[in-house]
Amino acid sequence: MDASIESRVGREVEAWLRWVPKWQPGTHRARSRLCQHCFGSPVLRAAGLDTDVPHAVQHPLSMRIKTLIEDEVDTYTSLNLPMLNRELGLIELRREAQAAYHPLEGLGPEFDGVDIDPPADPNEPYLFMFEDFVPPPSADDPELVPPPLSAEEKAALRVEMRLADDHALLVGKQVCAALVAHRPELQQAIARFVEPQVQALLADLGSTLDPHST
Ligand SMILES: [Zn+2]
Repeated sequence: MDASIESRVGREVEAWLRWVPKWQPGTHRARSRLCQHCFGSPVLRAAGLDTDVPHAVQHPLSMRIKTLIEDEVDTYTSLNLPMLNRELGLIELRREAQAAYHPLEGLGPEFDGVDIDPPADPNEPYLFMFEDFVPPPSADDPELVPPPLSAEEKAALRVEMRLADDHALLVGKQVCAALVAHRPELQQAIARFVEPQVQALLADLGSTLDPHST
């Protein structure tokens, strides 16, 4: 097994173990939809947290592990998969360019051609001008809209996407194997910090529902 993955899993487990004593059952309504990260997650199964553990306790661990796997795949991609890396970089740049605030967009026609910032009083300058938020021209850089890929480039990109998927699967398996080794400490934390609170809640519920208990 990859020693770096093993130690990263160890660090995420430690962080979760530090957090779990602070957990308290929420008073907010339980979510009605199943969490797509946690429901049926092989990661939680490997950790032994897949059954009889509140979702709010499972979720932080599954998100930590998800980030770990994504980071590993990102690193692998940037080192070994140049085409995919470039495409992902462009997607990211385009997303940033779109997310930028465009103060002149979406205004009614009555604002056409109007200065977005009224002239400032020289004695009381504005803290900021709307003009400052207009994204620099680089956001519309033709670099972000590269020429379409040739058939060979598309085929190469598809190969790299498959390699990235394969790598994600491999990392996922290594992570699960590493989690199995942490099961005892994870279960101990559940037994010590989570289970008593769950039992107390159930007992409360039982006494409210049972007319003979009063
Ligand atoms: Zn979840």
